[in-house]
Amino acid sequence: MVHIIDGKAFSDKLCDDLTAEIARLKAEHNFVPCIAVVLVGEDPASHVYVSNKVKRCHQLNIESREHRLDDTTSQAELLALIDELNQDSSVHGILVQLPLPKQIDSKAVINAIAPQKDVDGFHIENAGALAIGDNQIVPCTPLGSIMMLRDYLGNMSGMNAVVVGRSNIVGKPMAHLLLQENCTVTIAHSRTKNIEEVCRNADILVAAVGIPHFVKADWIKPGATVIDVGINRIQDGDRSRLVGDVDTEAAKAVAGAITPVPGGVGPMTIACLMYNTVAAAKMQAGIA
Ligand code: NAD
Repeated sequence: MVHIIDGKAFSDKLCDDLTAEIARLKAEHNFVPCIAVVLVGEDPASHVYVSNKVKRCHQLNIESREHRLDDTTSQAELLALIDELNQDSSVHGILVQLPLPKQIDSKAVINAIAPQKDVDGFHIENAGALAIGDNQIVPCTPLGSIMMLRDYLGNMSGMNAVVVGRSNIVGKPMAHLLLQENCTVTIAHSRTKNIEEVCRNADILVAAVGIPHFVKADWIKPGATVIDVGINRIQDGDRSRLVGDVDTEAAKAVAGAITPVPGGVGPMTIACLMYNTVAAAKMQAGIA
């Protein structure tokens, strides 16, 4: 019988722990973590993501300051705002919602954020720290995924882990985290040959591709643990719904454990943003 890894329940527990920690920071230090959320343009999905993040902040008593800029904002204007937020000691985390409009170079913006305030963990210094195993701020989606894997599997040493996808925000950091758990890690991507065979070797299979139902049941090793990072909206008759990168229903007959979509990696990503914000705030305030 397949085990469903409940990311919603796990994220609620993580947020409960953070709420208690935030109450302690307020009571003992009169200190409130604060995140600045920057949204440029009108992308509907980005608006939904930002409102969900801000809602979670309110639930946990993290202060959030929203900066909504229109889609004609220049790179110089956005960089000036980042600079202001970097200088503001009452702001501990800065999140710039991606994607940014075409006239703005996302890399330049991400790398302009002070690394200690980069709660998304995308800054080149945080990426480099992760790559050498000196983790500072770890990207939220891979962090949430590894937390669930540690909780479910415990010791992963020597397991074969395959990550499908090599993006800087999911695939690559996920591979580094699995390596730190002493897994034997393979990264598969759009140029990988015989990807089905590569996947069949995985004790831990992480799908971060962005193609609905990309990973088929017969690519999965019997008993494997499957982390489905994908969030894809598909049309189902006259309704639309979210599906992952794994053919979940069929995969359930083969996998030992699997994260559902929705309710798996998604909620953990937001919880880990809260986790990173609290950790960054404490670090900046010098509070243990
Ligand atoms: P991306 O587009 O940046 O990267 C996709 C990766 O998939 C690339 O590295 C590419 O090499 C690989 N790929 C593409 N086509 C392939 C193919 N045919 N065969 C093998 N590999 C292929 O995407 P991303 O930002 O890494 O996101 C991946 C998925 O995860 C998307 O569905 C995204 O919506 C989802 N996502 C979810 C969360 C969450 O909170 N759950 C967070 C971030 C991303």
